[in-house]
This record gives sequence, structure tokens and C-alpha cells, in this order.
Amino acid sequence: MPSEFDLIRRHFLEPAFTRPHVLTSIGDDCALLDALPENHALAISTDTLVSGVHFLESASPDLIASRAMRVSISDLAAMGAAPYGFTLALSVPDFDEEWISGFAGGVHATARAFDIPLIGGDTTRGPLTITVTVLGKVDKGAALRRNGAKLGDAVFVTGSLGDGAAALTLLQTHKLEENPYLHERYYQPDVDLVLGKRLSKLANSAIDVSDGLLADLQHILSASGVGAELKLESLPIAKTTATLAANTAQSQEWALIGGDDYRLCVTMPAEAAEDVSLADNQLIRIGTIVAETGIRLLDACGDAVELPHTLGYDHVH
Ligand code: ADP
Ligand code: MG
Repeated sequence: MPSEFDLIRRHFLEPAFTRPHVLTSIGDDCALLDALPENHALAISTDTLVSGVHFLESASPDLIASRAMRVSISDLAAMGAAPYGFTLALSVPDFDEEWISGFAGGVHATARAFDIPLIGGDTTRGPLTITVTVLGKVDKGAALRRNGAKLGDAVFVTGSLGDGAAALTLLQTHKLEENPYLHERYYQPDVDLVLGKRLSKLANSAIDVSDGLLADLQHILSASGVGAELKLESLPIAKTTATLAANTAQSQEWALIGGDDYRLCVTMPAEAAEDVSLADNQLIRIGTIVAETGIRLLDACGDAVELPHTLGYDHVH
């Protein structure tokens, strides 16, 4: 079966049809349009969450709303964009007013927390599905792209990895509520628009880690024509997640291919990261950009370790 990305490339990518105002099209976290005055571009990204695939229908509606919005806003952070507004398309099996009121409460609270107003949408009957389209504003020259990674750049992530996968194992056994840390990481992933904007002045490339570190870093590497070496022992894994895993190999696999972490992965010269006074643990170095394409994992002795057989979570499968 083709991957999600093969399908997009084969059927939707049409490089021959473009327009001068389209600055960045299919292939990055947001599209960029030359649609704003002065030196600004309009950033746009859409994400869909389907009940039973991306969340459990039985989850509290305000938490479903929070997750749907943060997943989308994360793509603005990955471009270094400031929030502008969002639209919300909602399909619900029935017009249950209590459910919709709870969902709307989560939408409005998240909108206020990120200073991003709801400007439109669509409401229909159907299987529970939520589509959020976010709009943002970015300095034309400063947008964080996937294609700018340079040889010798250090590879950083902005927080712990593997929490999404750990949360999923708890979700499947209906035990997520018993673990406040993973419950919050799953339903309210930290999305930091201020950090994204700050990094846009420093980093050469960026992506948000939605499908798994290896899969998402590979998008940066393919777009930039480079490779990366990652140090396994540098992967930031939260204590709760490490404890939940059967062993170190499992927690490392969660961190590498688990997905749903919504951290940023950025590349930039190591000195650039030292230049800024970022709070502790806001940038964790996990590797280096190298000339040889692909990703190599290194153990503590610097020896190569085999990559997991699949690079990440592919939503179509
Ligand atoms: P992200 O994980 O950042 O939300 P995706 O992995 O969903 O991005 O998509 C990868 C790229 O393909 C993005 O640039 C997205 O806009 C584009 N894309 C995904 N699906 C379609 C589609 N059906 N038509 C056009 N572009 C698409
Ligand atoms: Mg993204």
C-alpha cells in the first residue's frame, strides 16, 4: 500500500501549476502566501482528527477540542508564525447540544490561550471528525522551512519525545486518566508559538514532530539534501514514559517512531543555540547534520545501531 506521502506526491502535487503569490506550497508545515502587506506572508495549515483514529469518541469534548486545535497550531509554531485566526469544520453524529457546548468550551479556551480567534467553519452531521485550519503571519524571509538544513548544523528538539506513544498505550487500556502527565501531554500538547518565532531568527530548518522523530526529521533531510547522525542516549525521554516502557529499547523506539509529541525539531549551528538565553531544556541537542543522506543512530560508544523497521506513524495505514 502506498504511504500517505506517496499518495500526496502522486495525486495532489502539481508543481507546473502555481502563481507568483504562492511562496511555499505542498510539502511544508504551512503554505505561505504573499497576501499580507509589507514584509509579511500568510501561513496556512489544515489538520483533520477522526474519531477512533486520532482520539476516542468517549473522551471529554473539551479535551478533543483542545487536542484538535493544538495539533493544528503546532504547524504555525513550526513555521515561526504568529497566530492570525482559524476556521473549524465539525462533523458530529447528532446535534447533541450538551456535547457541542462542551466542545465549544474547549475551542474558546484554547483560542484565548493562543490568542487566535475563530473566524468561520462548517457544521454537518456525520462520523465525528474535526478539521481545523489555522492562519498565521510570518516575516517573509524568516519563515522556518524544512529545506534549509546545513552541513554541520546541530539537530535539536524542544522537549521530551515518546510521550505520545506512551499515552496511546494507556489510552488503549483506558488508563490514561490515571496518569496526569501523559493525559496532559496527549490532550494538551505544549505548543510554543513564542519559541517558534524566536527560533525562526536562528534556525536553518524546522518541522513539528507529529508522525515520529525519524519520519519528520527525514522530511527535513530529504527537502535539504543532507543526512543526520543521532545519538541514542541524547533522546530526551520523560521519567513517566521511561517507567511505562518495558525496557530502554522500547522507550527509545517510542521516542524515535511514536509520533504525537508535537515538539519542534530544528537544525542550526550549535553556537546559535548558545547565543540565546533559552530556558533550561527548551532545546535539547540530539545529533548533527552530515553529508551522507539518511539517518544513522549511534550508541554511547559512537557505533551504529540498526534503525527501527518503520520510520513513523503513517495515518493512512
Ligand atoms: P503536517 O504533518 O505538517 O500536518 P502532513 O504530513 O499532513 O503535514 O502533510 C504533508 C504536506 O502535504 C503538507 O504540506 C500538506 O499541506 C500537504 N498535503 C497533505 N494532504 C494534502 C492534500 N490532500 N492535498 C494537498 N496537499 C496535501
Ligand atoms: Mg507539521
